[in-house]
Amino acid sequence: MAIIPIRRAGDPVLREKARRVRTIDKSIHKLIEDMWETMYDAPGVGLAAPQIGVSLRVVVIDVGDKEPIALINPEIVKRSGERRVDEGCLSVPGYRGEITRSVKVVAQGIDPYTGKEVRIKSEDDLMAEALEHEIDHVNGILYIDYLASPDALISLSDAPEVRS
Ligand code: ZN
Repeated sequence: MAIIPIRRAGDPVLREKARRVRTIDKSIHKLIEDMWETMYDAPGVGLAAPQIGVSLRVVVIDVGDKEPIALINPEIVKRSGERRVDEGCLSVPGYRGEITRSVKVVAQGIDPYTGKEVRIKSEDDLMAEALEHEIDHVNGILYIDYLASPDALISLSDAPEVRS
């Protein structure tokens, strides 16, 4: 395992639509190990492969009070409702911003260890937010894209933050 430097906004890899994973082999398991280690080191609650420079559709999430999940080729298959959330991103360090996310989210993807399709339902919690945030990453979207203007970004002092 290795801690990989996290790419920051402005890096073109964060703006690519990441490629689908066709075969889940050792290299994908190694990638996921590196993603966990990098995410926990940061620390953050989620990470997408493009954030460590790998343009593949792979995400990991650990919000603390739920089972950590790694998903291959994840997609949001259903979303509904709107809520305002205070969001941050490991690729936009030092800032947070208030954006609109869904209330209910259903995501689906492949479990990297069983190879089976899994569905995750989440409602009005950090998991729902993280699923949308990380799946945005593999589509080249950053949360700052949802802000009305760059002035809406709030600079953090040394206050604790939730980042993914
Ligand atoms: Zn992020």
